[in-house]
Amino acid sequence: MDDEEIARTNLEHILKKEGYQVQTAANGLEALEKIRRGHFDLILTDLKMDRMDGIQLLEAAKQIAPQAAIMLFTGYATVDSAVEALLKGAVHYLSKPIKLDELRGTVRRLSEQKRLTRNLRGPVLCFSGPPGTGKTSIGQSIAEALERKFVRLSLAGLRDEAELRGHRRTYVGAMPGRIINEIRRLGVKNPVFMLDEIDKVGQGFKGDPASVLLEILDPEQNSHFLDHYLDVPFDLSGVMFIATANLVDYLPAPLLDRLEVIPFPGYSESEKQQIAKNYLIPRQLEHHGLAHLGIEFTERAILDIIRGYTREAGLRNLEREIATICRRLARICLKDQDACPTLIHEDLLDQLLGPRRFTHEVAEAQNRVGVTTGLVWTEFGGEIVFVEAAAMQGKKQLILTGSLGNVLQESAQTALSYIRSQAKKFNLDPDFFADKDIHIHIPAGSIPKDGPSAGLTIALALLSLLTGRPARLDVALSGELTLSGRILPVSGIREKLLAAQRAGVRRVILPQRNAVEVEGLEKEVKEGLEVVLVSEIDQALLDQVLLPA
Ligand code: ADP
Repeated sequence: MDDEEIARTNLEHILKKEGYQVQTAANGLEALEKIRRGHFDLILTDLKMDRMDGIQLLEAAKQIAPQAAIMLFTGYATVDSAVEALLKGAVHYLSKPIKLDELRGTVRRLSEQKRLTRNLRGPVLCFSGPPGTGKTSIGQSIAEALERKFVRLSLAGLRDEAELRGHRRTYVGAMPGRIINEIRRLGVKNPVFMLDEIDKVGQGFKGDPASVLLEILDPEQNSHFLDHYLDVPFDLSGVMFIATANLVDYLPAPLLDRLEVIPFPGYSESEKQQIAKNYLIPRQLEHHGLAHLGIEFTERAILDIIRGYTREAGLRNLEREIATICRRLARICLKDQDACPTLIHEDLLDQLLGPRRFTHEVAEAQNRVGVTTGLVWTEFGGEIVFVEAAAMQGKKQLILTGSLGNVLQESAQTALSYIRSQAKKFNLDPDFFADKDIHIHIPAGSIPKDGPSAGLTIALALLSLLTGRPARLDVALSGELTLSGRILPVSGIREKLLAAQRAGVRRVILPQRNAVEVEGLEKEVKEGLEVVLVSEIDQALLDQVLLPA
């Protein structure tokens, strides 16, 4: 692009002779129009022009055609703006008068680079972790760092394939799909596009969500994404997609295959304390117009809020509680500025937040026969659960309740069969099941539970019941049990240990085969916990968990 016709035609002639396809434009608007319509690898522009200068063109072109490299020509007088152009993303600049060899060499080098990098594509990232661990915030920061626009689309509410892919225009009220709609709204085709809660699409979805997502996320296919409303292929390859999920375990395999999963684990207590002190509290004070009052929280108060008022892997509730305190403080200030406390210490929490909602529940619970503590991993992070077993007169029935999934039910059957087959080893009457029913219940029935990792916990609850030895509730277990009595490794170790800490567990029993993972965890995650690794159920393990009868 050059506003001098002679320069323009000369350049066109030279470059065409080199074998490139060339289009020219006399001003910025004309150039943008052409960039919008065609596909360009390289844009050469003069820096000084009427109407729209090279820098403005650079900025606009970067949005429309992110793939194009942009090179500027400049006279000596405008070296400063050339530097500015480089900072804004131009790849090179040539000073006028242009030396033809230099021009040919540079263009050749750039097109060679383009050829090499044309097929390079970043992977589609998938941030996976419990709510409030910063997945969305990191996505926003990536967009900011790349100077691209950010858009977030929650997949959780989607019911219909047409919402993603658009309606055919034969329908009254037909609309383009959400993807195209957002891109139109933003006006750029290279935003950072966050597909939130990709693990929540599925139930009740009309059409096949996985296939649409595959088409959107697969770099091989998404350069000609077909929206039904648009009805011409649209190139999505410039969009940076980031998916988020709470748990990736249940994603369809072909979809998971295309994603580079980055785990966002829950925060430890000390991490939460630091984040609260450095980010959440200053931000909430600011939002509530209290920043100028110099209000501070003591370390102990922050810790007490974390322990007494929240039970979560992320930071959502912590931030909410801090916001509640700020609102109360704002009200006190409005009534009487002098009465507003400037140092929030732990004794004020009762007054500001009400009575504590959570206690170290297992440490204070009473040990019972047939009740053990288990560690599970849910989409909200780690949790503790109690497994209860009871026996009664009956006819060899195993009753399972507490909305248990299939795998969990099978774990319970396996645990019972294992104990029956090994009755001698545990000094039990081999016929203990002959005239009995056994009932296993895992409370908190509204939470669906599944997975194999409760096998060990169930086995110990049964052994406690059958031997009459109370189980220590401050000992928590997690491990998959096979019919032959081997203990297989489990996932989510870090989340489970954090949950154990939150609940006041003292000893955690984990499979020997998780040793490497346990070894690799930071000190804070294991603080206050005695981690015992086991490979089979033996007397030593029983003594770790069960008290004497
Ligand atoms: P997610 O998308 O994982 O549910 P968000 O990104 O919405 O989580 O984060 C929830 C809140 O927690 C936000 O207000 C965010 O600023 C804050 N937050 C999360 N992680 C951090 C961190 N490491 N440092 C500072 N603030 C954080």
